[in-house]
Amino acid sequence: MKTIIEPFRIKSVEPIRMTTRAEREGLLKAAGYNLFKLHSDDVIIDLLTDSGTSAMSAAQWGAVMTGDESYAGAPSFYRFEAAVKDLMDFAHIIPAHQGRAAEHLLFTLIAKTGDLIPSNTHFDTTRGNIEAMGAEALDLPIAEGRVPSLDHPFKGNMDLAALERVLKAEGHRIPAVMMTITNNAGGGQPVSLANIRGAAALARAHGKPFYIDGCRFAENTWFIKLREEGQTDRPIKDIVRDCFAVADGMTMSAKKDAFANIGGWLALNDDALAERARTLLIQTEGFPTYGGLAGRDLDAIAQGLKEIINEDYLLYRVRSNSYIAERLDAMGIPVVKPAGGHAVFIDARSFLPHIPPLEYPGQALTCAMYEAGGIRACEIGTVMFGRKPDGTEAPAAMDLVRLAMPRRVYTQSHADYVVEVLEEVAAAKDTLRGMSIVKEPPMMRHFTAAFERF
Ligand SMILES: *Cc1c(COP(=O)(O)O)cnc(C)c1O
Repeated sequence: MKTIIEPFRIKSVEPIRMTTRAEREGLLKAAGYNLFKLHSDDVIIDLLTDSGTSAMSAAQWGAVMTGDESYAGAPSFYRFEAAVKDLMDFAHIIPAHQGRAAEHLLFTLIAKTGDLIPSNTHFDTTRGNIEAMGAEALDLPIAEGRVPSLDHPFKGNMDLAALERVLKAEGHRIPAVMMTITNNAGGGQPVSLANIRGAAALARAHGKPFYIDGCRFAENTWFIKLREEGQTDRPIKDIVRDCFAVADGMTMSAKKDAFANIGGWLALNDDALAERARTLLIQTEGFPTYGGLAGRDLDAIAQGLKEIINEDYLLYRVRSNSYIAERLDAMGIPVVKPAGGHAVFIDARSFLPHIPPLEYPGQALTCAMYEAGGIRACEIGTVMFGRKPDGTEAPAAMDLVRLAMPRRVYTQSHADYVVEVLEEVAAAKDTLRGMSIVKEPPMMRHFTAAFERF
């Protein structure tokens, strides 16, 4: 069949509140043109993030009822631990309330002032946790990854020659090498198994541990199966296991590829480091068999991990993005090619060439999309990455707008609506104006900054 259908039926629904353009203009102004400050019931299609927004399955809600809330040694933890180890066979699985809590544990223990941590591209919370330790977060994407319009099967790959140069020149400052799969900040683009293995081998050759930020491991694996030579006929689970077999540990947000609304973990093979992590966990998150989560959350994750590697789901998941991307491309709206695993990225810098990067073309576009159709998307560009730790500002490598797809939430008619709204925005794009920041915090400013239009 040519039609790829949503591989689920809907048993429980959430109504969407419709708004008028005039209402939305007022709401956005009151929110300081920051979409993070909107009330979500004022949003028609919420594509702000795919994080924690998944629709849980009937089996997950069933598992929630079996959750055991014992403080120590709950069966929920052991089901969670077994489900993780089935896919990522690390010695120590340490639950945490989100991915960033896992990152906080890891970098508190391994990073210090003056250190350098290379990655294909660090996610913003990863960067924030590294910089909070006084260390430097270094992005080494392949050159193709920085060109939005260029088609490449594994645009999320790390530049291995650059990694080798950095390991040779700056090895004394490097406590670990990271790899983010899929590469979120770089466009939701996949990393090949060969590149994961190559980076791990270089790290090992220089005596450095290799960690994977595995937030979207299932989507990444689907792309490996589709696009990498020799992987096409292999079961998803085998490829997942191969990705993590070469790593010394991982950080994970269960709000992404575990279909859960909250949760995460840090996994480690190093016994001594794991003991220090558990001690810190007790101080900041909770006892090591719940890590800041309820037992029922651990059960939702355990069941979600079984569902996320389903091939019918992954086929539909990736197709829903490429469907939107193809239609925007056909209308002449510049999108990152090929479409990523969890999102469609619009290249706002080339879509709105009359707005310079330091006037935030991505922010201008997200505001226009909300006013036109109540769609909430996320700027991934100079607002998110432009402020340096010393307070100065420089354009980010790209000014993208991310339309992140919540898992199993929206249908094809929602996708068609998104395309129609963008068609309307595109028709009036020359009238869109740049923005300035009137108030910002010292770090991760995109969450709380207030803007004005020029
Ligand atoms: C979401 C995300 C994180 C952080 O996870 P949270 O659960 O939001 O704290 C880290 N890395 C990547 C790649 C992510 O997408």
